Amino acid sequence: MIIPRRPLSLWERLYLPAVWGGFKITLRHFFKKKVTMQYPEERWTVPAGYRGAPYLVRDQDGRTKCVSCQLCEFICPPKAIRITPPGPQPNPGVGNVEKLPQEFEINMLRCIFCGYCQEVCPEEAIFLMKDYSLSGHSRAEMIYDKERLLALGGTHQDQHQKWKQKAREAAAQGIAPAPEATP
Ligand code: SF4
Ligand code: SF4
Repeated sequence: MIIPRRPLSLWERLYLPAVWGGFKITLRHFFKKKVTMQYPEERWTVPAGYRGAPYLVRDQDGRTKCVSCQLCEFICPPKAIRITPPGPQPNPGVGNVEKLPQEFEINMLRCIFCGYCQEVCPEEAIFLMKDYSLSGHSRAEMIYDKERLLALGGTHQDQHQKWKQKAREAAAQGIAPAPEATP
């Protein structure tokens, strides 16, 4: 079926009413409160409980809490985590943490900020922070290594010192020196 094209009326051919209609909308919004942000100078304040990028944390004594159990590596849906455990060699001079990871990498290009790693971690060693805007000049730059993750995660003052408590329990049972005596 052929639909005949309706010719424009004189009013429509003037175009000025359409231009004026556009101006009216512009004027109406000109005096309204602005809702856009001047990113990146202005940053969005993330709400409490926001799940951003996952970082490793240290305990109150500045020690890495991760013990290379690899549960987070196993559970991570996009396989963004890669952990190199210490192997049979103990970690010298780090107190009670025998299994510090040799390397711990998170590929932030793959990470979907799902929070499974935080949920599964038995040591409260990895937390989703408030960072939502990550950028880099190369793919390699977006793979965060252990030192970078620890630096970004910082020290969690309010977290339970699990290993100190374990040392106290072991000392009470007479199977280990008191925690104050451990390095
Ligand atoms: S937040 Fe999710 S996707 Fe990102 S590293 Fe953790 S488990 Fe993997
Ligand atoms: S971050 Fe937690 S779950 Fe992942 S390897 Fe370390 S201790 Fe295990």
